[in-house]
Amino acid sequence: MKNHSADVAIVGAGILGLAHAYAAARAGKRVVVFDRSPQAAGASVRNFGMVWPIGQPSGELLQLALRSRAIWLELLDATQLPYRDTGSLHLTYRNDEAAVAQEFAAIAPGLGYNCCWHSPAQVFEKSEAVQPRGLLGALWSDTELTVDPRQILAALPAFLAERYGVQFHFSTAVRAINAPYLETAACRWHAGHFIVCSGEDFETLYPTHFAQSGLTRCKLQMLRTAPQPAGWQLGPSLAANCKCFAPLRSLQAGNSAHPSLLASPCAFTQPSTYAPPCLRSGRALPKRLRNSTAGPSTRSSPRLPMELSPSATPTSTASPSTSSTSLKSTT
Ligand SMILES: Cc1cc2nc3c(=O)[nH]c(=O)nc-3n(C[C@H](O)[C@H](O)[C@H](O)COP(=O)(O)OP(=O)(O)OC[C@H]3O[C@@H](n4cnc5c(N)ncnc54)[C@H](O)[C@@H]3O)c2cc1C
Repeated sequence: MKNHSADVAIVGAGILGLAHAYAAARAGKRVVVFDRSPQAAGASVRNFGMVWPIGQPSGELLQLALRSRAIWLELLDATQLPYRDTGSLHLTYRNDEAAVAQEFAAIAPGLGYNCCWHSPAQVFEKSEAVQPRGLLGALWSDTELTVDPRQILAALPAFLAERYGVQFHFSTAVRAINAPYLETAACRWHAGHFIVCSGEDFETLYPTHFAQSGLTRCKLQMLRTAPQPAGWQLGPSLAANCKCFAPLRSLQAGNSAHPSLLASPCAFTQPSTYAPPCLRSGRALPKRLRNSTAGPSTRSSPRLPMELSPSATPTSTASPSTSSTSLKSTT
């Protein structure tokens, strides 16, 4: 078995592995990254591509998310990879939702968020995709970005290799780490630091810990639309409810001012349908999905407007959305 050495050895070339490789290489370390697939194929290429500071609670996590956004912009600038400076709209269709969003808008600047309340007219200036019927207004935030995850994950390894000399070994499973050694089928690597970014596969390297952890896998399903005519884009990312609302007085436990929002992590409680209720009907959804009847998964969780029935495209096998679909149910 051949022996090699690096300062930092990273397992996984998903976004976490690449982010650590970027930081370590910029700090002057010799970095090697292993991924068992020929190219990243995990959650990092199956997501909405939303850089989403508004989703974080104020304080340390919000500051971390804003710092992460700044690093994204730095990297996107260096690689010249495209992104969309979309911002986001948290739409409200009910009085309790609007009250919460307006209360948040009033205190948000003091907490470090760059957001404000928008009237329906202001919302329509920003987005032509929003369902106008019953709209009371929205929380507008200008910090959210949208990237194409597949494009980013495909391009970053080459950039890191060229610019910083990071070594990549794809189609190479790491089968054990016994510091200071890491083992693949063909090689043994000596490294000063090991960073394990193996995503949902925790048990390959740490079967005992995994068995004792009580962790179970779950899925976050998403919808991929057909390409839209004339390159139509969604515009600002559209969402409902948000963890950043948690500290609001009107949502504290015991306060029943907004019981429906306390009961559900998602503000939309419309009947089961594939079309997110916040979207203008028929917009951005392929006919195949618009006309489908609700499947069991949708029926059992009617509060999640983006959830699909098993007959639709599940996240586990679908390619992710690309340019026009930044829709998510923020649970
Ligand atoms: C539907 C969905 C939507 C999402 N939307 C967003 C969003 O809009 N914004 C956002 O910020 N986050 C989003 N996320 C979360 C985000 O995608 C994940 O947090 C992130 O991609 C995790 O990256 P990772 O590098 O840890 O894991 P992964 O991308 O899963 O990468 C892990 C890699 O490790 C490799 N690996 C595992 N074991 C080994 C081994 N033993 N040897 C070698 N290689 C190994 C795998 O092959 C894989 O490539 C979303 C997630 C989902 C599921």
